[in-house]
Amino acid sequence: MRRVMVAGNWKMHGSFAGNRQLVEEISAGLSADAAVDVAVFVPAPYLAATVELTANSAIAVGAQDVSVHEQGAFTGETSGAMITDCGATMTLVGHSERRTLHGESSEAVARKAEAALGCGLTPVVCIGETLEQREAGTTEAVVAEQIDAVIDQLGIAGLARCVLAYEPVWAIGTGVTASPQQAQDVHAFIRSKIAAVDATIGGQLRILYGGSVKGSNASELFAMADIDGGLIGGASLSAENFLPICRAGEQA
Ligand code: PEP
Repeated sequence: MRRVMVAGNWKMHGSFAGNRQLVEEISAGLSADAAVDVAVFVPAPYLAATVELTANSAIAVGAQDVSVHEQGAFTGETSGAMITDCGATMTLVGHSERRTLHGESSEAVARKAEAALGCGLTPVVCIGETLEQREAGTTEAVVAEQIDAVIDQLGIAGLARCVLAYEPVWAIGTGVTASPQQAQDVHAFIRSKIAAVDATIGGQLRILYGGSVKGSNASELFAMADIDGGLIGGASLSAENFLPICRAGEQA
């Protein structure tokens, strides 16, 4: 049976006191041998403290972005080595808010994934189309271009060390979720595209769905054949909303 991942993206939310309470409540609600992989992607200033808070739990901690540079005159950036130094093991790359608000190209995102892997971090590479692109019928072309950039940069063996998160931009933070079938159709396309290069990697690559996942729709989404878990924004900010999604992941 496949093991689902439920990952919370806290975005630019949190405080030391609030994070402590949130992590304590999530840990208390998850059994030690929970059959689901849980991760939280936290703002850089809280990485080290969140790693400490999760030390006795099975919750993995990740950053929300990583620099392509190792060190130097890059004010405001955080290197993969710094993220590792904080004890975190993962990082998001190419979240749609970074692609849109910071103009990150697919090539830049692929370079960030490479920098993360080089530091021993697992990159969660976010891909997905805008509403305009979906309505224009270009969803598959858009995600194909985003994946090809990663394969060009890392090779298929490098992609195998990443997690993919399909997040249709129109579903992020909007309350509009892709229907399980809409999400499954794109996930199946992604998997078959990768399987055409390497059948084993295509079969094994973890592909998360993100976009307004909630306790009420998680089970249906995770039941789909090619959806291996979720990347959760808004609903990851309270244990009350996040734990039901983790439980849906356990039962998938
Ligand atoms: C996200 O931030 O990646 C996300 C999917 O947000 P939300 O769950 O709020 O749509």
